[in-house]
Amino acid sequence: MSTHRILITGAAGFLGSHLSDALLAQGHTIVGVDSFVTGSKENVAHLAGEKRFSLLEADLVNPLPSAVTEKTWDRIYHLASPASPVGYVKHQITTLKVNSLATMNLMELAQRDGARIFVASTSECYGDPLEHPQKETYWGHVNPIGMRSMYDEAKRFMEAATMAYRRERGVDTRIVRIFNTYGPRLAQNDGRVVVAFITQALRGEPLTVQGEGSQTRSLCYVEDEIQGFMALMESDYHLPMNIGNPDEVSMLDLAKEIRELCGSRSEIIHTPLPPDDPKQRCPDITLARKILGWEPRIARQEGLARTVAFYRRKLGM
Ligand code: NAD
Ligand code: UDP
Repeated sequence: MSTHRILITGAAGFLGSHLSDALLAQGHTIVGVDSFVTGSKENVAHLAGEKRFSLLEADLVNPLPSAVTEKTWDRIYHLASPASPVGYVKHQITTLKVNSLATMNLMELAQRDGARIFVASTSECYGDPLEHPQKETYWGHVNPIGMRSMYDEAKRFMEAATMAYRRERGVDTRIVRIFNTYGPRLAQNDGRVVVAFITQALRGEPLTVQGEGSQTRSLCYVEDEIQGFMALMESDYHLPMNIGNPDEVSMLDLAKEIRELCGSRSEIIHTPLPPDDPKQRCPDITLARKILGWEPRIARQEGLARTVAFYRRKLGM
């Protein structure tokens, strides 16, 4: 396999750091760009001595830094964006800009270099879905002005921009629709459910189930998700593709599972359900199975156990 010069935006984030590890293991050279708005240097601290990895601090709401435009690229992964409801509501304008302006700047760069560019879209494009499970052909059910709109609509714009650069300029593009992914290095302060429950259970605090907890998510372990990204990038398929694990669970059942795995006696309490919280979400991954021969391999019990072990160490418990 030939090795590539790869640009990863959001490399200090949860997914970006795991993607960096996996691409480095294949022998590629990586430059990561991150503003650390929701990510952390700690996520890539283990790569400090790695000659084929460097990390540049830049906010991509601005024009691309010269350290990026002075180099040429074979592959670009655009992952930079606040990703949790807490994160994108706190950074609404950044979320809109990094998924729109930065996407277009990176498309221009990809066009200049003849690079292939991969953009991180999301199951949020389906909104609070009326079709279940969600196939890529479903157009979604999104509130354009709601409390998730800065994220959902920015990601939908990102997909539109990607297709426009492909159709009008011939840019070589890939679009992944990521479904809820979890694992080590998720930020502990951005409210995402798996880490919120694990942290609460390990500390003996109440697990905060929002609403009745009947809403569902389908959780993919990070290692599987990253394998799907790399397979999609190196495939010939350019239309949006779901990458996620169809193993669906209600949030109340997830809270009970995590409490049990942590050996915790925390109580489960119910807090208000945020507005526009999708009631159900599950990927149809027929396309990924057919085109990439990809499917998740790590069962929820195993993935959660690994994640609990990571946060136990991190919290010193
Ligand atoms: P994350 O917050 O851990 O990582 C995102 C990274 O992007 C962070 O390091 C952050 O500092 C950086 N960033 C954000 N705005 C930036 C800017 N303006 N300039 C430079 N860097 C910036 O989140 P993640 O879970 O790793 O998500 C990565 C991507 O995957 C995001 O685009 C997200 O929308 C998408 N996604 C993730 C999930 C998931 O379950 N993890 C689901 C759907 C989509
Ligand atoms: N959730 C919860 N308690 C928490 C955090 C989240 O019950 O402490 C629920 C939330 O209401 C949503 C689901 O868990 O239904 C997933 O939330 P998350 O923020 O992880 O991601 P989302 O899929 O909503 O973007």
